[in-house]
Amino acid sequence: MTIAEERIERLCALAKRAVREGHDDRARAYVQRARRVAERNRCGLPRTFKRFTCDACDVYLRPGRNARVRLQDGHVVITCDCGAQSRYPYHPRQ
Ligand SMILES: [Zn+2]
Repeated sequence: MTIAEERIERLCALAKRAVREGHDDRARAYVQRARRVAERNRCGLPRTFKRFTCDACDVYLRPGRNARVRLQDGHVVITCDCGAQSRYPYHPRQ
């Protein structure tokens, strides 16, 4: 694991905790910082990070706290409190 990846993991954990404690703005700051680290180091972001951050407002998404998760037509639809939705294909276990 590179230092950049480690920093991203750390920021991810901090963002998660900030949302749990109700500090959405703090979570946004961590998410934005993690995105910048990834960009500068060209290492990409882990899949869980991409799935659990809002593209529109950068908040870290926690289902039941600030996000709704629904299954729809073979997709997982995650709706952020800001109204933005992201959809991912859903592969049921065989
Ligand atoms: Zn949002």
